[in-house]
Amino acid sequence: MLTLNENFLHLQQNYLFADIAHRVSDFQQANPDVRLIRLGIGDVTQPLAPAVIAALHRAVDEQASAETFRGYGPEQGYLFLRQAIVEGDYASRGLDISPEEVFINDGAKSDTGNFTDILGRENTVLVTDPVYPVYVDSNTMSGRSITYAPCTEEGGFVPALPPADAPAPALIYLCYPNNPTGTTLTASQLQEWVDYALAHGSLLLYDSAYEAYISSPSVPHSIYELPGARRCAVEFRSFSKTAGFTGLRCGYTVVPHDIVVPSSGGTSVRLSDLWRRRQSTKFNGTPYIVQRAAESIYTPEGRAQVRATIAYYMENARIMRESLIRLGLHVYGGKDAPYLWVPAPQGMDSWTFFGHLLHEAHVVTTPGVGFGPSGEGFIRLTAFGHREDCLEAMERIGKWLACPSVPFQPAGEGKASSMGGI
Ligand code: PLP
Repeated sequence: MLTLNENFLHLQQNYLFADIAHRVSDFQQANPDVRLIRLGIGDVTQPLAPAVIAALHRAVDEQASAETFRGYGPEQGYLFLRQAIVEGDYASRGLDISPEEVFINDGAKSDTGNFTDILGRENTVLVTDPVYPVYVDSNTMSGRSITYAPCTEEGGFVPALPPADAPAPALIYLCYPNNPTGTTLTASQLQEWVDYALAHGSLLLYDSAYEAYISSPSVPHSIYELPGARRCAVEFRSFSKTAGFTGLRCGYTVVPHDIVVPSSGGTSVRLSDLWRRRQSTKFNGTPYIVQRAAESIYTPEGRAQVRATIAYYMENARIMRESLIRLGLHVYGGKDAPYLWVPAPQGMDSWTFFGHLLHEAHVVTTPGVGFGPSGEGFIRLTAFGHREDCLEAMERIGKWLACPSVPFQPAGEGKASSMGGI
């Protein structure tokens, strides 16, 4: 008899974005003349860099002739891209990663979700709270038990290591710069996790999809900057937010050869070999033209163009941070990440704050509680919008806060703070 993987029935219905969409569409139907400004979106808005467009055109033209046509490519990705990544993202920072350790994919979502295919279902999982939901859902689908490390305002949004007397989680997901809080960890804070993983035989699954947004010199760009990480950490990167590939789809995963896991049969298995085996069965590669497009980001002109777009988004983030702080709100993130994490005034919950901003300021945000219980009382703003919209949204929020009907006490001068650099 046909049965289901009933773990899927244990998934929390992801109401968050559907719920936001319903509330926004109800409001818009009742108020068709209002122009809403959407600061909740997690998608980019600026066009692809000219170097990327040129690389796409060249690669498309190659498909028109039998001499240069490309069919199936290597499942792990073309060497030209893996080499560009190794040189551009790792060797340039003095990090020793080989092209054989790099696996090209169709975006970080696929690999952060799929990687656990090669890991035992009995492995326990630790995620931070609030969290990018893919880690939770993909492990729920596999029936793994999940614990949460709360990242709170009082704790500076730094997840605490599990207590010494608690069983160590086998898999630990860390995402820095963080979605949704926009905060980062210092090298010494990250080193504690690397040391913990090495001491307990845990695997770190390090998602650095927003690495390109780091500007503070003290913030690590790669987990491999920390001694010992090559023996315990897999790193996921994405071209989505780095270079606007949310529609093109490309990213990569680094699985160092030094991660070796004992099997029940007594042999030692290199995780990268098992991942290659999995990918060569279930994945047939990222399109050639997309890999050529990704390669172009590593050329001097590609790099400069991509950096200019990131600077545009981060200027949005700066404008929003400084405006909100001036208005008397607390703001976290937005310094090394395109996300701002804003506590609701006067102890409002996330959905109430969201509702006020939608109905009275006509600005759409994302309620923080949708990312986990520790997100309650916050909203997330993204810096991916158009400049004029960010400016107007700040003006609208300012007017709303100034309304006599809004019971808002601005934070005192010294109280308004940003911990984006932590
Ligand atoms: N990881 C994090 C933390 C993200 O926020 C996202 C996308 O929003 C992804 C991974 C997925 O990115 P991709 O578009 O490469 O699948």
